Amino acid sequence: MNKPLPFLPQANPPTWLGVMGGGQLGRMFAHAAQAMGYKVAVLEPAAVCPAGDVAERLITADYSDPQALAELTRLCAAVTTEFENVPADSMALLAGASFVAPSADCVSVAQDRIAEKRFFVDCAAASGVLPAPHQVIASMDDVAAIADALLPGILKTVRMGYDGKGQVRVDTRADVAAAFAAMGVTCLLEKMLPLAYEVSVLTARGVDGVSVVYPIAENVHRDGILFTTTVPGPNVDAACARKAQDAARAIVERLGYVGVLCVEFFVLADGSLVVNEMAPRPHNSGHYTIDACVTSQFAQQVRAMARLPLGDVRQHSPAVMLNILGDLWFDGVDGVDGLSESDAAGAREPAWDKVAALPGACLHLYGKEDARRGRKMGHATFVAASLAEAQQQLRAACIILNIAL
Ligand code: ATP
Ligand code: MG
Repeated sequence: MNKPLPFLPQANPPTWLGVMGGGQLGRMFAHAAQAMGYKVAVLEPAAVCPAGDVAERLITADYSDPQALAELTRLCAAVTTEFENVPADSMALLAGASFVAPSADCVSVAQDRIAEKRFFVDCAAASGVLPAPHQVIASMDDVAAIADALLPGILKTVRMGYDGKGQVRVDTRADVAAAFAAMGVTCLLEKMLPLAYEVSVLTARGVDGVSVVYPIAENVHRDGILFTTTVPGPNVDAACARKAQDAARAIVERLGYVGVLCVEFFVLADGSLVVNEMAPRPHNSGHYTIDACVTSQFAQQVRAMARLPLGDVRQHSPAVMLNILGDLWFDGVDGVDGLSESDAAGAREPAWDKVAALPGACLHLYGKEDARRGRKMGHATFVAASLAEAQQQLRAACIILNIAL
């Protein structure tokens, strides 16, 4: 048996942790890493980015740039990723010189919907859950062969989908043919399921094989983008929570995963649970852990990378998280209707002072300079002694921000 790797000391000399990707997840990861005494390097193609603003080092380069990857491994004892579409080959290359978590193999399963679905099916005996009925659409012959039971459905690109992008709702084979021709890449057709509600389970596993599972979160999406996360979920019963948590644990263990992994599920009208997809990183639906749990999902990622014991996942307060999208800079703007979006962005800042004044409000803004519709600009988590109180603060915030509930 290999000798277990020791944990990473934080200083003397300083230890650096690397992250592939410079978005808000990288930024919050950096905050957590720095709070534990580590220094952070970010590799990201954009010269200005949310994580680059806070990291001690920003390497501006393509994710596959060999020199940049070499610089990252020279500097960093451990490297992670903040998004699943990082080239798996880069993660494999980094693993030649640094401790990499999650592994390239795990990332490559999560970034390919076909591999991901296959994994979920293979894992079903252990996890107790199946994915939605589906079929690969790689040619017009595949379109002709679609089983009636798969329609109506959703056609999803196999790679690079996020926030509902790369997805088209389809009712007929002709719809599939048109959507497939328009996308021009291999797709997966999924049966449209009657969702009662959606949940996700955040889990983490250490290199020692110990895993932890956070409380189940209930998620509401709007236009394919996460809108709110509520924990505990108002619709979730104890049996469903246990089933989803057991499934997530089985999945993280079966993958031999190291780090934070989020598994998304659908709960159908008949109460059955269907596994949707997994994210090999901290997840938007886990942002509530920053303010409502002993160990945030980002601190947990740091622990997994530094080979420290995983932290307590206990939730100390009921919480509701509201995503803050760039739309807020434009919608219902007094006196600036008719301005272009860039003009309006300069003209209006949402009333953060009023939101921040709400009891239990924890406001997180990502420092992004240009607000755009659908762009994640921040989030607010409302924590309270009771869920009803947290939901009341969410409603108050939505009134302030002019968001229809
Ligand atoms: P993410 O932002 O989570 O990465 P994504 O773009 O990868 O999203 P999915 O999670 O597959 O896409 O789908 C986005 C949303 O679309 C789901 O949360 C759900 O609301 C809806 N959806 C997706 N697949 C189905 C399905 N088979 N039946 C019903 N609704 C679905
Ligand atoms: Mg999703």
